[in-house]
Parts: sequence; C-alpha cells; structure tokens
Amino acid sequence: MQLHHDKHHVGYTNNLNAALEKHPDWAGSKSIEEILKTYSTAPDDIKNALRNHGGGFYNHSLFWLMMTPKKDQAPSGAVADAITEAFGSVDAFKQQFSDSAKKIFGSGWEWLVLDNGKLALTSTPNQDSPVTQGKIPILGLDVWEHAYYIDVGPDRAKYIDNWWHIVNWDDVAKRFDSAKK
Ligand code: MN
Repeated sequence: MQLHHDKHHVGYTNNLNAALEKHPDWAGSKSIEEILKTYSTAPDDIKNALRNHGGGFYNHSLFWLMMTPKKDQAPSGAVADAITEAFGSVDAFKQQFSDSAKKIFGSGWEWLVLDNGKLALTSTPNQDSPVTQGKIPILGLDVWEHAYYIDVGPDRAKYIDNWWHIVNWDDVAKRFDSAKK
C-alpha cells in the first residue's frame, strides 16, 4: 500500500496536473468530479489523460480514506440498513461485491455506488470512475495487479478477503449520508 500510494497515486496525480497545465482555461475552477464528468469536452490532446490519470487520481484519493488501521469494523446506522435492504444482509453484500471483484478481467475497480438514490454494485475498467456515469462512489476496491502482487502475488481472492478486515465503515457511512442529502 505504501508503494501503491507513493508511486502509483503520485504518478496519476503528476500526469493529471501536467495535462491540466496544457489547457488551464478548460478546467478553470472545475472540481475533479466535474472534470471526470466532462472530460469528453476537453481538447483532444488531454482527453485521455483526464480520463485515465484524472480517474486514477480521484479513485485512489477515495481508496485511502476507505481503509483504516482499526481492524474488523462493521457497518452501522443508515448505510447498514440500506445495504441490508439492497442485498439481503451485510454478509450477502460482501459476498456479491467480492465475487464481482474477483471476476473483473484485467485492471479495474469494484464499487458500491449510489445510483439514482439506490445502492448498487458496479465495476469499472482501468481508472474509469463511477462519477463519470453520474453514480456516487460509496465504497471502492482497486483490483489492479499493482494493488496486490507485492503482498500476495497473483492471489486476487486472498487480497480481497484480507481487504474486508480494514474497510473504514465510518468513512463509508459518512459518504453514504452526504450522498443521500
Ligand atoms: Mn491502484
């Protein structure tokens, strides 16, 4: 995770900044969410960089907050109720999320999102972000090989199972509550 943060996330951030510096007028004072929703209207020479490095910057910015050194937290409150309503139980949700994350072909992310006010699972390829499709990320898991090869080699399933122990449910609850407002 240290290398992931210090090398990969920094790389996306630097490349996003370099792209924005080429056309500072296009982005103006747009937030990163607005940039990801509207990158297709950007000048051709920075479109791909905004999508890939902008997505990489944003997705990872969320990812670090979604984890905690406090092990084995559990969801509570409104988000726990909404997960139970949408998926049957918290355990059933974790199972479905994990199954979907394990099946992603190649690099990408698994997400719990708020889509038109309802919780749903979605996967995105590469560094595409759910915000581009108008969905609000509530919880996300990076399944790029760079996220787990150093720790567990090719065993993505083990990485996913380990990851549940460090999910920051306080952050998930905060994100859900503010998305519902
Ligand atoms: Mn990553």
